Amino acid sequence: MSIPISTLGTPRIGPRRELKTALEAHWAGRQNETALLATAAQLRASNWARQSLLGVTHIPSNDFSLYDQVLDMSAVVGAIPSQYGWEGGSVPLSTYFAMARGRRGHDDRGHEGCCHGGGGVPALEMTKWFDTNYHYMVPEFRRGQAFELASAKPIDEFREAVALGFHTHPVLIGPVTYLLLGKSKDEGLDPLTLLPGLLPVYAEILHRLAAAGADWVQFDEPCLVLDLDENARAALRHAYGVLSSTVSDLKIMIATYFGGLGYNLDLALDLPSAGLHLDLVRAPSQLGQAVARASADKVLSLGVIDGRNVWRSNLTALLDRIEPAVAALGPHRVVLAPSCSLFHVPYDVEAERAFDPELRSWLAFAVQKIGELKTLSTALVDGRRAVADELAQSDAAAAARRASARIHDAGVAARMDGLTPAMSERQHPYTLRRRAQEWLGLPQFPTTTIGSFPQTGAVRKARADHAKGWIDDADYQRFLRQETTQAITWQEEIGLDVLVHGEFERNDMVQYFGEQLAGYAFTQHGWVQSYGSRCVRPPIIYGDVSRPRAMTVEWARFAQSLTKRPVKGMLTGPVTMLQWSFVRDDLEREQVCRQIALALRDEVGDLERAGIRIIQIDEPAIREGLPLRHAEKEAYLTWAVACFRLAASGVDDATQIHTHMCYSEFNDIIHAVGGLDADVISIETARSKMELLDAFRAYRYPNEIGPGVYDIHSPRCPTVAEMRDLLAKARERIAGDQLWVNPDCGLKTRSWDEVRPALVNMVAAARKLREETAPARVAASA
Ligand code: GLN
Ligand code: ZN
Repeated sequence: MSIPISTLGTPRIGPRRELKTALEAHWAGRQNETALLATAAQLRASNWARQSLLGVTHIPSNDFSLYDQVLDMSAVVGAIPSQYGWEGGSVPLSTYFAMARGRRGHDDRGHEGCCHGGGGVPALEMTKWFDTNYHYMVPEFRRGQAFELASAKPIDEFREAVALGFHTHPVLIGPVTYLLLGKSKDEGLDPLTLLPGLLPVYAEILHRLAAAGADWVQFDEPCLVLDLDENARAALRHAYGVLSSTVSDLKIMIATYFGGLGYNLDLALDLPSAGLHLDLVRAPSQLGQAVARASADKVLSLGVIDGRNVWRSNLTALLDRIEPAVAALGPHRVVLAPSCSLFHVPYDVEAERAFDPELRSWLAFAVQKIGELKTLSTALVDGRRAVADELAQSDAAAAARRASARIHDAGVAARMDGLTPAMSERQHPYTLRRRAQEWLGLPQFPTTTIGSFPQTGAVRKARADHAKGWIDDADYQRFLRQETTQAITWQEEIGLDVLVHGEFERNDMVQYFGEQLAGYAFTQHGWVQSYGSRCVRPPIIYGDVSRPRAMTVEWARFAQSLTKRPVKGMLTGPVTMLQWSFVRDDLEREQVCRQIALALRDEVGDLERAGIRIIQIDEPAIREGLPLRHAEKEAYLTWAVACFRLAASGVDDATQIHTHMCYSEFNDIIHAVGGLDADVISIETARSKMELLDAFRAYRYPNEIGPGVYDIHSPRCPTVAEMRDLLAKARERIAGDQLWVNPDCGLKTRSWDEVRPALVNMVAAARKLREETAPARVAASA
């Protein structure tokens, strides 16, 4: 007897990002389809072999993807929007990648995911996978949407594994989650009404998998952790009623993750599936309820190892928690698993040779997490003594981490104790601050940019050369000063009002700060997929965060020394610093965020003292931190706003605080955006043609706003007239004296050839608007 171990899914980009390399070579035309598919097959084979070697009994298949697992599902069920020109049959790879990345037209200038005539087709929309930093391709549905099995990927990959000697558990996105993740392109169409047409395709997959020898199939239904209405709940009952009776000896495991089931727990337990997977990291308390209520034949997959974070588990404590449940259920009704697919963590801690050994001993990536599951499984069957060494090591690591001086900083603790509500308040309300800031002498409709200028090949090369020691500090600094000087001179020349230094010294908006803060660590190979071939290496916040010394003051001061116009200081906000990192699990996120806010508050103060009187604190990630459940949203927004204000409020009324956000929905968080009380906010609005401003209008947003007029995601140069029209649209929604003129976001991904004419036009558009409104302004003030 043993207790099975499942992973639900594994990292798929390859330990050295082999998939990224192969994809990009293929897209660039340097590698043909056969070579790409061979790399993909190798990655799958090594994933299966690794898991098998480590003792995983329920090895997943179809968890691999060339781009995205939701896009895969759209290909499998033939939900291919007509613009991609698919005419039935199996979906060609070129069609698949067109959905992922858009297809260029012949006179298009080669921009991914965008179309400007010439027969180009845009990519499907992309959005965040629940509350993770992974992005999926949003399925599109139309009225009368037909589904058919258009890709045999799940069956092919199952067979591929069989041929290599691995018996796998295929993973499919469940039909209800799949439909709920999609978007209706026809008004009034509820995607769930498409379920009856979709289920036969799922049924066909089940038949084929069973014929190929599968005995278990995992259906991912993370929608079960959301607030579901009765319609969705009925859809789940219907779907699993149909699917569970499709093939009698094929067992279904319904996987839920990213939270507790809450009021959906009974529903989930009552669905006619052989098994149910529970996230017991985010919702440990649901274990007792599930054990008590599950029917006598239901298998429970216990997601006890954190699939969303990088910390080693305390195995003894875990055993204390799960032994009673396992005893109650009996070993044949238990599977041990991570809370969610291991896809969200990097491969292997052992690859981190240069990592601080003490910190490394606290970490567990995918490989180590499987090891932990194996230890738990053995302990549960053969007793703790059988794994005494492993448990002792786990205990020792947990104890060492708890007691480590690296984590606890008395200075930080004292400052946290000394926090007062007044520290999150500016000296006076905005109306008074506005007057205090008039000394800045800004014109009406002031022009500015969001911070970064093009990270050209030369900039990236200089950084890489410096990191490798090929150029020394002095040469690197000289190079950066030269870039900054050019940027300042050019901004002055074209007549921008508030200048930026250009962020040439920054690798990444979070990493740059994290590297200068105590409590942060960085891996060498800790990549996780963000979307497609794009991977990120999130920093690890392991201990109390503090700022040993000023982080940005020198560059800001240098830039300001070159010009009489105001140079805007540029910081990444506390919530974004938190959200894009792996965060310690021994302190509430809210408290970690406060510590970061305090460090940034010091930076803001230092900038102000250095004569930088406009300071922007970027918070593009505030919205993505929103909890999945309604009931938890307000509490999050309250502390997120408080942390921003803690960072921003230490300055004089006459110092102007900006913030910046870029994503496309403000309606449900507009009160929090207002709550930030930044003097100026810049937002991404160009693509929505200013519609996003409706939320600001309805809320009567009182402070100043810079709605982006230049879509920086496109290489296209917007004309003066276009931007002027957008500004006119903006003026319909907000008062003229609130309005700033700026691009949607930072310009680091663009080239100077694209940026130069676009910003020249943007300044011209602002001037035009000033001319057009000048008489009205005189009249108003007369
Ligand atoms: N200041 C950053 C930049 O300009 C902001 C980036 C962002 O919003 N993601 O690049
Ligand atoms: Zn942005």
